[in-house]
Amino acid sequence: MENIRLRFAPSPTGALHIGGIRTARYNFLLARKYNGTFVLRIEDTDQTRYVPGAEEYILDALRWCGLSPDEGPGIGGDYGPYRQSERKSIYLKYAEQLVASGHAYYAFDTPEELAILRSRAESDGNTFKYDAKVRHQLTNSLTISQEEVHERINRGDDYTIRLAVPQDELVLIDDLVRGRVQFHTNELDDKVMLKSDGMPTYHLANIVDDHLMRITHVIRGEEWLPSTAHHVLLYRFLGWEETMPAFAHLPLIMKPNGKGKLSKRDGAKLGIPVFPLSWKGPTPENTFIGFREFGFLPEAVNNFLAFLGWNPGTDQELFDMADLTRAFSVEKIGKSGARFDFDKARWFNQQHLIKMKSEDLLPWVKPIISEKGHHPDDAFLLSFINLMKERVHVLPEFWDQGNYFFTDYTHLDEKMVRKKWKPELREAFNHLEALIQTIDDFNAENIQHHVKYFITEKELSFGAILPILRLSLTGTTKGPDVFATMVLLGKPEVTRRISNSYLHFDKITG
Ligand code: GLU
Repeated sequence: MENIRLRFAPSPTGALHIGGIRTARYNFLLARKYNGTFVLRIEDTDQTRYVPGAEEYILDALRWCGLSPDEGPGIGGDYGPYRQSERKSIYLKYAEQLVASGHAYYAFDTPEELAILRSRAESDGNTFKYDAKVRHQLTNSLTISQEEVHERINRGDDYTIRLAVPQDELVLIDDLVRGRVQFHTNELDDKVMLKSDGMPTYHLANIVDDHLMRITHVIRGEEWLPSTAHHVLLYRFLGWEETMPAFAHLPLIMKPNGKGKLSKRDGAKLGIPVFPLSWKGPTPENTFIGFREFGFLPEAVNNFLAFLGWNPGTDQELFDMADLTRAFSVEKIGKSGARFDFDKARWFNQQHLIKMKSEDLLPWVKPIISEKGHHPDDAFLLSFINLMKERVHVLPEFWDQGNYFFTDYTHLDEKMVRKKWKPELREAFNHLEALIQTIDDFNAENIQHHVKYFITEKELSFGAILPILRLSLTGTTKGPDVFATMVLLGKPEVTRRISNSYLHFDKITG
């Protein structure tokens, strides 16, 4: 494929849902795969829905996910400006061209008049549609004289420009995901192209910009499929059918239980992130936690998202960006809804953590530990990461599960203490503590050797000693290898914790 150009065209109406990131990811992958261009266009023509900070959020989220655009607002490119509100003057010409060629008309119906028609239709159990059947009964340039049209426009009456959708035609779309899709024009309404504030609607601006920005492929969510019929008509009416982009509509992302479309509220309801980054809205209901703040790595989020609607056709699940670019193809995008499985997201993150070199994880883990007031040197942190990385799913768990490496443990598993501690073990532990003091070469193998020898010699059992040894050091019976844990804690700390633990143990069991 030559010179392919793809775009991500979000509207800055709030935080970008994870589905938006998936759309951006697929566009980006295809652009990278064929050495094409990935464009960011901000579709901000609906001023009533504009939310301050949303554009910044979109850029931050794309950057965090490694999806930096090649062209876009603040980035530049040959086809700018890339913010539709800055392109306002471009669209009028095309709207008027549509009127001149008879494919659109001026409509003067006021919002109040239309509201009355809508509610009248509703009370008859119908929905009002401004279309070929009714346009001749309404106030527009098809029903009033040319003079009146000019007079109204000149005196500043509000008007819109509507597309004159033809009757009795089939609009065919060869979607790269769905195959042939057809729409009957009698089902379509005469969509507004230019609003009374002089701004284009999404439909007009989107088509004009895709054309002027030489977009070759439009990959977007399934919810835009119905609009595509109007878009195809627009390409035809503007004389651009020859260079119309190819369309690929992505399957919906479904709730974790598979029932219905995933919504932003599901995140709050289930305590899981459905946004890439946290977003602070004006009210608590509009404030959401992001994958980043939840402790996910961008690579893992991308890997997880890539699989929401696509699969490589093999068993391979773990992909880094380069692999993903190689493997990705539009043909392997599925048609049916993809279930948002948060456990699977955690699994992906765990796998990426395991795969990463501990050195590369250092910049992620260090801030988590220093935020808690601990500043060990890098060598210590690297050993810590080595020990923990197979056990955690998300980054904060490095602290949640491994805080005892930095400070006395704050939680002691009392149930296990009750099960495992017997006062008669006290003497054996005194000996063990003394023995540990004598180990000069304090490495895991050596410690293991000595401890095991001790257990055998004293005719004790591993099951009796090792869990309580671990409890005395970490407060829990779970965790990385106990001997490696001892090495990282260091001999003085190990013996200190063992001798301190008797008191706690006796208190619990006594
Ligand atoms: N502005 C639309 C959105 O918010 C763009 C849809 C499209 O890609 O055409 O998703």
